[in-house]
Amino acid sequence: MTERVRPVLSLVVATKNRGKLAELRALIGSLPIEVLSLTEGVGPLEIDEDQRTFVGNARKKAEAVAKAAHAVVLADDSGLEVDALGGQPGVRSARFAGEGATDAENNAELLRRLEGVDPEDRTARFRCAIVLVDPWADEGERSREFEGSCEGCIALSPRGTGGFGYDPLFIVRGSDRTFAEHAEDEKNLISHRARAFASVMPELERLVAARVTDALAALAR
Ligand code: IMP
Repeated sequence: MTERVRPVLSLVVATKNRGKLAELRALIGSLPIEVLSLTEGVGPLEIDEDQRTFVGNARKKAEAVAKAAHAVVLADDSGLEVDALGGQPGVRSARFAGEGATDAENNAELLRRLEGVDPEDRTARFRCAIVLVDPWADEGERSREFEGSCEGCIALSPRGTGGFGYDPLFIVRGSDRTFAEHAEDEKNLISHRARAFASVMPELERLVAARVTDALAALAR
């Protein structure tokens, strides 16, 4: 029988998105960290994502949740930047076609704005910013920021059935397939979010090691 290691750290992830949570749990894998959703860690909390940058939004969410949770907090924000549109939709990715727009409406809006733009000028990237707040750390070390990106270009029409958001329009650089034509685990190896999460891992490992050291020191006293 395999024994589950007792968590030494609680991590509240400032998201209600089950997909993101599952992705993060899979990545954290064997580290002794209890990963809690926003609802599990804090309860209902609405935070307006009104900052001008991805990292600004992630910072705002992480700080708001850290105030309410007695735990380390991780918040992320992500979206699509299209060069021919001067970086739009950017932080407005979820509501590009208007407040409450569906993925299909946002994709249609993107294609409309790119009408007449040649394939070689349709370069784009997904970007993801992550902010990790440790309320117990010294002031200068309380908050840390991480980023990941994935380069590609925008297709002339949607292709594929996987993923979400702009996946059917995003052709990954070095491939001729859209993200929606990738298997989920294949996308999770190369996505902007996976890359940003990967850069957070050493920091989570450091936090776990520090907690273990503290616990051992307390036992020795
Ligand atoms: P969020 O606020 O980080 O959840 O993402 C904002 C918006 O960016 C989403 O609603 C999507 O439109 C878009 N987006 C972020 N990541 C992805 C992705 O991996 N694939 C497709 N669209 C994405």
